[in-house]
Amino acid sequence: MSNPLQKAAEILKLKKEHLQILSVPQRVAQVNFPVKMDSGEVKIFSGYRVQHNNARGPYKGGIRYHQSCDLEEVSDLAFWMSMKCAVVNIPYGGGKGGVVVNPKELSAKELQRLTRAYTRAIADVIGPFKDVPAPDVYTGPREMAWIFDEYSKIVGKKTPAVVTGKPLAIGGSLGRDIATALGGVYVLEQIIKNLKWRDKKLSVAIQGFGNAGSNAAKLLAERGFIIIAVADSKSAIIADDPEAGLNIKALLKFKQKTGSVVNFPATKEISQKELVLAPADILIPAALGGLITPDDAKEIKAKMVLELANGPLKEGAEEILIKRDVLVVPDILANAGGVTVSYFEWLQNVTKKKWSEQRVFEELKKTMDKAAKEVWQISRKHKTDIRTAAYVSAVGRIAKAIRIK
Ligand code: NAD
Repeated sequence: MSNPLQKAAEILKLKKEHLQILSVPQRVAQVNFPVKMDSGEVKIFSGYRVQHNNARGPYKGGIRYHQSCDLEEVSDLAFWMSMKCAVVNIPYGGGKGGVVVNPKELSAKELQRLTRAYTRAIADVIGPFKDVPAPDVYTGPREMAWIFDEYSKIVGKKTPAVVTGKPLAIGGSLGRDIATALGGVYVLEQIIKNLKWRDKKLSVAIQGFGNAGSNAAKLLAERGFIIIAVADSKSAIIADDPEAGLNIKALLKFKQKTGSVVNFPATKEISQKELVLAPADILIPAALGGLITPDDAKEIKAKMVLELANGPLKEGAEEILIKRDVLVVPDILANAGGVTVSYFEWLQNVTKKKWSEQRVFEELKKTMDKAAKEVWQISRKHKTDIRTAAYVSAVGRIAKAIRIK
């Protein structure tokens, strides 16, 4: 018994049939669809929508555009979404979508045609009370607006609740842009409180400087954490003066202007591996999955890994970290702020009400604090790592909702 689902099942004394149900997705939609390129050539693209479990509510989960996206990855992500929604106790199941494409090679017009074609291909299986997509790697509000528009045309009525992460002007929620990072910060603050660590300024290294990573950097810097190193897909940098760290406000402007973090003043360029091994108290993976290897785990200097990315640890890495007393705060808890505010957006759409940003952040804090406290207590009660505890919380809730007729 090694994977967290099995470990949780053992602790919960889960019925065999419940474990079997949770071990496979309920539905897999695999689609191939044509897209007209700007050159006039027609290309066929492949995509997926995996629906893992809807015992607790409609399937919910992002759509990823990446050249290496495959069914296994999307299925793992769909499974994690079921767990994530259950950990934070929002009334959704788990799903995930993906298109095999390098979005950097397409023009905006081509991306729009691709997104609309993908929406038509999966239109039968999505819907506001069926399956509600959202942004993930290399998709954002713009893509969600296209999905909303295309889906509304298909069903013949404006249906904003079919996707979340929309632009504010067409039904998006205030606060959604920073929700994943802010949720992660709330969880981090709870865990630090439990560890009674707050005796010095804590330093942080962040892998990935997109939505999750850059917002986490900004929010943590505002709260007095020292961000000593960051990486994007092109490069990684470390502050010349680790006591002072990076000026995140200036770095964000720099990255916006130059498209990269490299050559930011008073920093040295380092390798991606050096970033992972940087001498920080906390390592925050916020890029793609599987980037941290067991070899890295043997040498990581951080005392805590906060998984803002989904599945950042390669198989075998976590066991090594646990043996070395490095605390791993798992993705299904650490990055659940995004889906939580997605739920708030969906609630605003279906009730036709608008929440203030303050209300969004207050509700987010309540949700994340409660989940973090519950998971911590489960981990103490059963003397387990935090990931297993998070799965115990999630699987217990889903199992209660499963009805076998
Ligand atoms: P994003 O596309 O905005 O940013 C991804 C970042 O990772 C970019 O800065 C990119 O340059 C960097 N990157 C890519 N490959 C890298 C590599 N090999 N080394 C270092 N950096 C690399 O994506 P995002 O929305 O910030 O998502 C990041 C992670 O967070 C993903 O794992 C995603 O599944 C997870 N996540 C995001 C959200 C959300 O709301 N955005 C919610 C939950 C989980």
